[in-house]
Amino acid sequence: MSNSSLVDVKIPANSNNYAIGRNGKKIEMITIHHMAGVLTAEECGSIFQNKNRIASSHYGIGKDGRIGQYVDEENTAYTNGNLQSNFKAVTIETSNSKASGNYPVSDKVLETLIKLVADIAKRNNLGTIVKGKNLTWHKLYSQTSCPGEYLLSKMDYIVDKANKINMNGIINSGNLDEKNSNQAKKTNEEISDEVIKGYWGNGEERKTKLTNAGYNYNTIQKMVNKKIK
Ligand SMILES: [Zn+2]
Repeated sequence: MSNSSLVDVKIPANSNNYAIGRNGKKIEMITIHHMAGVLTAEECGSIFQNKNRIASSHYGIGKDGRIGQYVDEENTAYTNGNLQSNFKAVTIETSNSKASGNYPVSDKVLETLIKLVADIAKRNNLGTIVKGKNLTWHKLYSQTSCPGEYLLSKMDYIVDKANKINMNGIINSGNLDEKNSNQAKKTNEEISDEVIKGYWGNGEERKTKLTNAGYNYNTIQKMVNKKIK
């Protein structure tokens, strides 16, 4: 398990505020929160340094778009108000741009959130990001209005853009490999695993993307069908 290289500042939470390890569970999802306040990454981190808080998150995006890390992904942050979901989640606190009304966040913070979501999903092999499945929000687990109406209204947008970031990374490298040499090209074996993880979409979308990246759709699809039997 690794941590995001997008992090600007590390502020370890007090050891009272998280659990070591994940109780044998695998990371299965990302959970989005809002700070219900306009805070920097450092201000959010200092809250989790209070040993009486019994709360933390893995990451926090400050009001200026800088990212703080408070708990390593290999450990369990207490963020969702529900221990079973905490064991399986990487959690993100997001600064609002106004601490009232529908609790908006700035465009810069939203774009940073999308990049961080894409990065966490990719490193943890979460596959295609699906709203409510491997991308969740606090309200699904406890009595709270977190992450606020504004972020809730942006979930489809976040999912769509984060999936595009991860998909483009693969397609770009595919095209580049094709142009430069066959040496760097991934094997059919590797690509079929990526298909199973959801990186290449489904149906016609999958066919188009694989073909455009220079792979034989029928060959890959046969391997996929064999593997998932
Ligand atoms: Zn929350």
